Amino acid sequence: MKICLLGIFSLFPAIAAFSQQPSIDKIAEGELPSLLAIYKDIHSHPELSAHEERTSALIAKELRAVGCDVTEHFGQYDRPELKGYGVIGLMKNGDGPTVLVRTDMDALPVEEETGLPYASKVAAKSDEGKDVHVMHACGHDAHMAAFVGVARALQRSKEQWHGTILFVAQPAEETGNGARALLKAGLYSRFGKPNFALGFHDNAQIETGHIGVTEGYTYANVDSVNITVRGVGGHGAYPHKTKDPIVLSAEIINALQTIASRENNPIDPVVVTVGSIHGGTKHNIIPDEVKMQITVRTYKADVRDRVLAAIDRIAKGCAAAAGIPPDRAPIVEVLQDQFTPATYNNPELTKRLVGVWKKTLGAENVEVSDPTMGGEDFSEYSLPDHSIPACDFHIGAVDPAKIAESKKSGTSLPSLHSSKFAPVPEPTIRIGIIGMTSAVLELMKK
Ligand SMILES: [Zn+2]
Ligand SMILES: [Zn+2]
Repeated sequence: MKICLLGIFSLFPAIAAFSQQPSIDKIAEGELPSLLAIYKDIHSHPELSAHEERTSALIAKELRAVGCDVTEHFGQYDRPELKGYGVIGLMKNGDGPTVLVRTDMDALPVEEETGLPYASKVAAKSDEGKDVHVMHACGHDAHMAAFVGVARALQRSKEQWHGTILFVAQPAEETGNGARALLKAGLYSRFGKPNFALGFHDNAQIETGHIGVTEGYTYANVDSVNITVRGVGGHGAYPHKTKDPIVLSAEIINALQTIASRENNPIDPVVVTVGSIHGGTKHNIIPDEVKMQITVRTYKADVRDRVLAAIDRIAKGCAAAAGIPPDRAPIVEVLQDQFTPATYNNPELTKRLVGVWKKTLGAENVEVSDPTMGGEDFSEYSLPDHSIPACDFHIGAVDPAKIAESKKSGTSLPSLHSSKFAPVPEPTIRIGIIGMTSAVLELMKK
């Protein structure tokens, strides 16, 4: 796969050399001390999804400072009690294409264990009323520092591009509903539909100085499904007088695994994971019901439809086989408001950007990343039909020496969302600025 893609990329040698490249480098270099201060400030003041009040004000201030027309408190969630803290910054430079550049802003309910001098000590109440610690364990703080750097670099390179840049600082990526809240509030009807959408994410497996990118599907459709398995409870010593929902749940769980192994075309990725199961109170009581929570990952829309239908059919079919009366059939609920669509990196756009990055950074610093079954609501910006070409690329965040050491010892590095994860700030922010700015200049060049 890698060799084949490299072959395709080499079809683009004619792309003009980046005469502006030294200037992006130079701008990034000059801005890094101030961006590092912003990074550390945001890192030590993380905010949970849909609570990005301080963070969004900081980003709005920075976008105003580079001359953007800024709109704050943007976004409309399905849950009316949540406030939209989206920040939209328009940087206009005459007629030309519109390019959307996105950062996310939210942090996670994780207690930081990095030992860094600027580590978070923040605690907060979650929306569920739990006391939690808060940490930027996914690196969105590095995205924001790079995003500000990109805005500064593009403001200072206005003679090289034309059109409108739609800077989007998105809340609530971790809960998968932030991008949808911005679109629901009229992101495209109010600020214009972009010709291209670009996003980046730090990567806990890629070394600093590198960009990684996948052509086509890079993140999966994410569906959350609840199943309530209903039986007829009774005494544990008299099972023949009951319909046991625990045994039935075990049947359903095993049968669900046949969706991937027996019903699905093996070349279409599918994951069905039962992540939670709760039922019963005591050794000798057969309960009336069991509750299960399932995450379902797919790429293609038709595969998604088939898998969700199969879950419903299997749950109800197993119940019928167990003699559960029809009025006690399992309740299968797909949580539509928690759906995140698959992220599809437009192949033509991705090839074009890879050509630019290879010239800008050197071919050895651009990696073909494997797609994953993770989720990312950046996908929303390309719309359900992918009619807006989009690309979400990875920026390396790990010290190369640590990657080498981990390969040698076989011990894995802290992943995103780990309490021990932190990007190496300076080179991560630098590659974010160079990668995104060079991509925007390519798409908007005069
Ligand atoms: Zn995350
Ligand atoms: Zn993230």
